Amino acid sequence: MRIILFGPPGVGKGTQAKLLSEKLKIPHISTGDILRDAISAGTELGKKAKEIMDDGHLVSDPVMVGIIRDVLKSDRCKNGFILDGFPRTLPQAEALEGILVELNLKINFVIDMEIDPADVVDRLSRRLSCKNCGRIYNIFPGNIPGVGKCQHCGGDLAQRQDDKPETVLNRLRIYAQSTAPVREYYKKAGLLKTINARNGIDSINRTIIELLGK
Ligand code: AMP
Repeated sequence: MRIILFGPPGVGKGTQAKLLSEKLKIPHISTGDILRDAISAGTELGKKAKEIMDDGHLVSDPVMVGIIRDVLKSDRCKNGFILDGFPRTLPQAEALEGILVELNLKINFVIDMEIDPADVVDRLSRRLSCKNCGRIYNIFPGNIPGVGKCQHCGGDLAQRQDDKPETVLNRLRIYAQSTAPVREYYKKAGLLKTINARNGIDSINRTIIELLGK
């Protein structure tokens, strides 16, 4: 099974990808996580990506396509994958098509997660993520994770630099300009399945699993 989770920042792609990855036993490939790992490791890629990401801009298409090419060709993805955060531009979608043709593979589903952009700013300003494993915590009264530590791995929780409201607005602008056209690309290809992503995590997960026929 090869799946793309598509939608604006903050819609819950990462959360759903983790759940699906556990259920379907296929890897969750998050380009955002790959870049954040590169930043933590202090690699050349990380040094280049940090400023771009902190401002909410997109890392260049050739860099992103190179990363995805290596990941999809690796043994890890031989039984399928869930892409989260890629493709984010039309050139990335076209390049992905080329890589899949080379590998003689096809995408089975593109799950298009819809949400009102106004909800995104609110959601992202209330989320913390674990600096170690990337797990997301949504903060609201009565749900403040104990002592700022991840309940999964004990790592420190922090707000992502790019989840600050001014940067989120920038990310939403870029989504509308550069990423939304990718929706049409997959709609034309007959792969797009649109779902309402306003509901709770479990309900969205059930909807996706039903769509996948699993
Ligand atoms: P995410 O965790 O998916 O929200 O990604 C965080 C940031 O990483 C984005 O705002 C971009 O700066 C960068 N990024 C992740 N995936 C891509 C991509 N496919 N193309 C360009 N930039 C990306």
